[in-house]
Amino acid sequence: MGSQYIFLGGEFVRKEDAVVSVYDHGFLYGDGVFEGIRVYDGNVFRLDAHLKRLYESAHSIMLAIPYTAEEMTQIIVETVRKNELSSAYIRVVVSRGMGNLGLDPASCSMPRVIVIAEPLSLFPKELYERGLKVGSVATRRNRPDVLSPQIKSLNYLNNILVKLEANQAGVDEALMLNDQGYVTEGSADNILIIKNGVIFTPPVYLGALEGITRNAIIELAKQNGYEVKEQPFTRHDVYIADEVFLTGTAVEVIAVIDVDRRKIGDGKPGPVTNHLLEEFRKLVTVDGVQCYPEAKQKAVV
Ligand code: PMP
Repeated sequence: MGSQYIFLGGEFVRKEDAVVSVYDHGFLYGDGVFEGIRVYDGNVFRLDAHLKRLYESAHSIMLAIPYTAEEMTQIIVETVRKNELSSAYIRVVVSRGMGNLGLDPASCSMPRVIVIAEPLSLFPKELYERGLKVGSVATRRNRPDVLSPQIKSLNYLNNILVKLEANQAGVDEALMLNDQGYVTEGSADNILIIKNGVIFTPPVYLGALEGITRNAIIELAKQNGYEVKEQPFTRHDVYIADEVFLTGTAVEVIAVIDVDRRKIGDGKPGPVTNHLLEEFRKLVTVDGVQCYPEAKQKAVV
């Protein structure tokens, strides 16, 4: 591949030239929203759901995205094509744009839209075979009435602080609790646990992002005959679960085999987790927007 092209300010620019102003309020204040999206074999997985979440996040912070969802779809597809990617990770950023040094968004005249598509660096296969070690951290999840975790904003310090704690504790991922001590999510992924064949995940109002992978897994689980319950649970419920796994665009579905030094199940990725990962991988190349429909047609002939 030659140069990497990034969509910035209404045009494609080379990566070296993709720079934004130090007066951009996304940089100065984390004022903006974003999405992380994945492309599988040219298929942008659940792009409509990602765009819905992006527009809802923007609506909540009164940020007017200067493109319609249809135009954003075109821009994203074009970014993948321009970079000749088949498997990719896409980052969409909409910042408040350039303003003065005051925090008031009123000084920002034009939101800035950025789309980056990069070749995917896959998580090591061993991690899926081994499973992750997770630790609960002291820092609580943002309270929804302070900064809703459902807004996928550029202000990710809450998540970064817990990631630092996880790193210092020598675990792979953090487990965040809300101010009442109920389990919410990881630093960048949702949590699901399995007990006696039933799948539990926290309701998002407790303080979690409504993950698109989470939702896909809930649907797949129900289609495959599992009972799924969205209800509050504590660390104790996690410790005594038969299986625990995390979901997210980047990690897809990954087993957790240790939480706060309690072995989960028999300490290996469990059968339900493996089954759902298998089902998920079947879904990802067909459920979404195909960037190269002509190539697919040729392949069929
Ligand atoms: N929670 C948080 C805090 C996240 O940042 C992410 C990643 N976007 C997720 C959960 C998982 O969401 P998704 O499945 O949509 O990637």
